[in-house]
Amino acid sequence: MTLVKKPETRPAAASWGLSKRGTPWEYAAAPEATDHIEIRREYGLFIDNAFAPSRPKATFQVINPATEELLSRVAKASRADVNRAVTAARRAHDTVWSRLPGSERAKYLYRIARIMQERSREFAVVETMNSGKPIKESRDVDVPLAAAHFFYYAGWADKLDYAFPGRTPRSLGVAAQIIPWNFPLLMLAWKIAPALAAGNTVILKPASTTPLTAYLFADVVRQAELPPGVVNIITGPGEIGMELVRHPDVNKVAFTGSTAVGKMIGRAVAGSRKKLTLELGGKAANIVFDDAPLDQAIEGIINGIYFNQGEVCCAGSRLFVQESVYEPLLDKLKARLSTLRVGDPLDKNTDVGAINSAGQLAKIAELVQSGIEEGAEIFQPDCVLPDKGFFFRPTLFTGVSQSHRIAQEEIFGPVLSVLTFRTPEEAIEKANNTPYGLSAGVWTEKGSRIFKMVAAMKAGVVWANTFNRFDPTSPFGGYKESGYGREGGIHGLGAYLDLSSNRASGR
Ligand code: NDP
Repeated sequence: MTLVKKPETRPAAASWGLSKRGTPWEYAAAPEATDHIEIRREYGLFIDNAFAPSRPKATFQVINPATEELLSRVAKASRADVNRAVTAARRAHDTVWSRLPGSERAKYLYRIARIMQERSREFAVVETMNSGKPIKESRDVDVPLAAAHFFYYAGWADKLDYAFPGRTPRSLGVAAQIIPWNFPLLMLAWKIAPALAAGNTVILKPASTTPLTAYLFADVVRQAELPPGVVNIITGPGEIGMELVRHPDVNKVAFTGSTAVGKMIGRAVAGSRKKLTLELGGKAANIVFDDAPLDQAIEGIINGIYFNQGEVCCAGSRLFVQESVYEPLLDKLKARLSTLRVGDPLDKNTDVGAINSAGQLAKIAELVQSGIEEGAEIFQPDCVLPDKGFFFRPTLFTGVSQSHRIAQEEIFGPVLSVLTFRTPEEAIEKANNTPYGLSAGVWTEKGSRIFKMVAAMKAGVVWANTFNRFDPTSPFGGYKESGYGREGGIHGLGAYLDLSSNRASGR
């Protein structure tokens, strides 16, 4: 890492939003190279291992949210295309994939994982250009974790009988998988790896703003020589996702996205025999007790809400601080916030990149405005934002009350609401006062308090003295309006299997 003396006037490279930290130096620009990647001008739908235009031919634009420049045009699927994809997946399931021994399926999954590792730099750059997330996050988190999911589920593919003792696990059939734009490649891996390990075939619909790493993954599928029709990827608007969900030959639906769309999908599959998992929104509480190591907690709070620009379903967007440490903690937090570097996502020093779309930026701005109007006090570090692209300053609110919209609604941006509490009971009551229940964090030196809090929090995942840690072996999912079903671990495998037949009785 190069440190250079801060010049009198800021050079062009530094206009990429480097924060004014009052230090006598600034970081030199350290952009990741893009000359090793190829983004095609146009992508067709990926069905039966071939890219082909939609029928009738239609496309839509995909842009770089950090520059607003056109990256590519991708096919806009029609209802007929959905049918073609489901037909391909059905044929591949019934004639090839479900009939392969688990050990053979595992070989394909290992191959995919290894190719992803080999092409990790390419994946990281494309992910960053398409989503706006900092390259250090796509490079160090998204891509390695995505590969890790394929490695992990490859290990289970030939051990399904051991995973579910006494059962005869059977594949479900064709899985329709709809994913969001905040972790495009990682969500793809969360969905596709367990589905394939369990013997299902898939049709994946990426979010319309972030389809490019999914199409790069399609290349990997061909490179790994998967049989045609096992993995199909189609792009198009939300209605195409709904066509997929409703298709009568789909056996399993897996969705990650907003609670509003999740509810619509829940209604659409109700009464059918389709198996469903929903990973929806969140409004996580991150609770700091007065005995917590404050410096460590600060890093956890920052990681909890500013990682991936706060566009994280399990983001620690509500910070609860025990009153006795409120002032020192807030001073440290504001100082740390002022060191975050906002700007070019391809710069290896960037901490906070671009918001994924103009629409999401407008939603964040509207909710922040509501916080100001409802009387909360805003703090934003003094940093220069790039002229182009969708950027938002890391923000925190104090003086927040439970009824404020910024304490209730999912903002999905780099915005933290700070509240206080006096007793553990008050913290529990306030933390659970939300329609969501995806994740939570607890910071304390006391092991017994951790156990008490974990048991009392209505959240699918509770982190203790850390935040936003993910591992393929750990199940992840929510309560209440955060959805149901689990992804990851053995639980995530079960969600793609029919476990109704009992080995002993033969039924
Ligand atoms: P959506 O729920 O609309 O999008 C998620 C995925 O669902 C995308 O692939 C989208 O396609 C697809 N989709 C949209 N409408 C339908 C439909 N009727 N039937 C089937 N699939 C559909 O999220 P938004 O992008 O609109 O984001 C809105 C808010 O949702 C965010 O501000 C955030 O609060 C929350 N959110 C939560 C996420 C999470 O991880 N829990 C992820 C993303 C958003 P397309 O992109 O083509 O519209």
